[in-house]
Amino acid sequence: MKRSIGMKSSHALTNQSVDDEITKISAGNFALGYESKSGLFVVQNFGRSDTDLNQEVKNWIGKYKRFKFFYASSPKSAFVKECKNYHAFDKKKLDNKTHPKKPEDADYDCPYCN
Ligand SMILES: [Zn+2]
Repeated sequence: MKRSIGMKSSHALTNQSVDDEITKISAGNFALGYESKSGLFVVQNFGRSDTDLNQEVKNWIGKYKRFKFFYASSPKSAFVKECKNYHAFDKKKLDNKTHPKKPEDADYDCPYCN
């Protein structure tokens, strides 16, 4: 076993690698960044897809070096997780400048705003 669940390493952000790793058509979350000299994954940006994580991550090829991803059970859980990250991270170290948008037709809001 190369890796275990919960200790997933990051992957090179290339078409091939995205197709090899994100094999399910699913909602999910991703983080973009690079690997430090000591092998730590440094997050620079993150986001989600409500429908197809594979396609969404491919939009960032060429802009970042590596990615991590997590499948979500629903668009709502992907949105809530993205909000949690947005509120938890130090914004000065991230390229995310605006609050995550909620899914279309969502009847819920970010649980971490106020
Ligand atoms: Zn919020």
